[in-house]
Amino acid sequence: DPPTRSDFIRDIVAADRAAGKHDGRVVTRFPPEPNGYLHIGHAKSICLNFGIANENPGGICHLRMDDTNPTTEDPEYVQAIQDDVRWLGFDWQDKMFFASDYFERLYDYAVGLIQKGLAYVDSLTADDMRTYRGTLTEPGQASPFRTRSIEENLDLFRRMRAGEFPDGTHVLRAKIDMAAPNINLRDPVLYRIRHVAHYRTGTRWCIYPAYDFAHPLSDAMEGITHSICTLEFEDHRPLYDWVVENCGTAQHPQQIEFARLNVTFTVMSKRKLLDLVERKLVNGWDDPRLPTLKGLRRRGFTPEALRAFCEAIGVAKRDAVVEMQLLEHFVREDLNKRAPRVMAVLRPLRLVIENYPEGQVEQLEAVNNPEDPSAGTRQVPFSRTLYIDQEDFREDPPKQFFRLSPGREVRLRYAYIITCVGVVKDPATGEVTELRCTYDPETKSGGTQAQRKVKATIHWVSASHAVDAEVRLYESLMLTDPGKIPADQDWTQHLNPHSLERLPTCKVEPSLASIAPGTRVQFERVGYFCADPDSSPAKLVFNRTVTLKDTWAK
Ligand code: ATP
Ligand code: MG
Ligand code: MG
Repeated sequence: DPPTRSDFIRDIVAADRAAGKHDGRVVTRFPPEPNGYLHIGHAKSICLNFGIANENPGGICHLRMDDTNPTTEDPEYVQAIQDDVRWLGFDWQDKMFFASDYFERLYDYAVGLIQKGLAYVDSLTADDMRTYRGTLTEPGQASPFRTRSIEENLDLFRRMRAGEFPDGTHVLRAKIDMAAPNINLRDPVLYRIRHVAHYRTGTRWCIYPAYDFAHPLSDAMEGITHSICTLEFEDHRPLYDWVVENCGTAQHPQQIEFARLNVTFTVMSKRKLLDLVERKLVNGWDDPRLPTLKGLRRRGFTPEALRAFCEAIGVAKRDAVVEMQLLEHFVREDLNKRAPRVMAVLRPLRLVIENYPEGQVEQLEAVNNPEDPSAGTRQVPFSRTLYIDQEDFREDPPKQFFRLSPGREVRLRYAYIITCVGVVKDPATGEVTELRCTYDPETKSGGTQAQRKVKATIHWVSASHAVDAEVRLYESLMLTDPGKIPADQDWTQHLNPHSLERLPTCKVEPSLASIAPGTRVQFERVGYFCADPDSSPAKLVFNRTVTLKDTWAK
């Protein structure tokens, strides 16, 4: 792709290339921690990092598992992350890395800092360390252990690694400046003792590097040129630079921060997503209500739509919340172009055409996609007994209701004009259980009355041919924007109790009988739907991706 997009990060990359910085190379990375599934926020970072690499000749984007925390990481997440990045349409080629592969080299860099007098083993308690660190308005104080000799530090650090000390007894700290206005520079912790097995390195290590130490060095060792991260790391940039400079790596990557993506009425932090999954408030990481890529995929979102969305929201320096409707707008635009149209009745109401011959079946020709003539047509069976949607009938129609009601006529899509001549009611409840109708045989396509206009066209399925289905309708996960929930409140109290509605007795046209899970269709007049993996030969299951009506206000 030629670089069609422009933003402040792409401007920096272009200027660096023009100036010959980093020998004109462009190497980015996407560095997730494998402690959860990727979400739409990660998609923004993926599109940015892989996008910039793809736009620059010779550019490459690494996929790096930022797996230096032994307590939260899992191979299941590693696999899911790879699947999701590929599904979004990006390729790291052979550039897949694990920060845990760098443990030995990171240890050596730490020893190097100690030898230069730039790191020391501190033995304060965690509480004391916090007190000594000072506040925004008060400088910190030096730990009494700050003046340990290089020899003593080397010995203690080696013994930390050897497992001689329990958790929390010592840490390795950078020796920078306890009076620095930026608290991140007040002798930050570089290593902690944690006697915890790691999913890849097992019990080989009992000291683990801090993010602020491991991340810049991982970037540098991989020859990353532009290390793009979210805004909360802006205050860490001086430390990033300090680590790289003082460890003397060949490459000095440039950290650039951009605003996180937040979307209205949903949660994005992996901690909260994990909470929902573990407390079974949703049905797993791929629950279609979640903003995870697996959830969005199961819901029917396309990678193309997600990429278009990420491109549209752009990259900025200021945090913003994007409306869910914008995301829906992009998937609707994409599916409109490619989703085949089919007929499905979500809340079936039986309809009998009294003057249509008993036992007769006609195959009617239906257009697969008016937006795409190459999609062709299909045959839809028509017979004397049909289902229409309950919403398309009113016994006492209000003024603006032009669909079916007693004495009125409508067109059945691809078929005939019918007139409602009677209703059958449940004697106990008074509920309408069946409509009695007549049809005009001349109103079919090609008939003498084919052009006759009626006020409404409705969809239908043939009762004996239709396939049973369950349809799942979704609303927003949250009733309140998470940003607006007071911190002292349990955010899960703001979950939308109606986020999932199951319609178990739907009827869909027989062309869907063997639909593969993941296939996306438009149910005419109803919305876009995606066949769910829960589908069985006995009962299909569909997720509503979005309604047809675009509620995005430009
Ligand atoms: P969380 O707070 O949800 O755990 P994280 O930032 O810790 O998210 P990582 O696995 O470290 O999750 O994220 C990998 C990359 O994706 C990082 O570079 C991070 O900046 C980026 N990223 C994560 N969330 C978002 C978001 N909401 N918007 C944009 N980029 C994001
Ligand atoms: Mg992180
Ligand atoms: Mg995190």
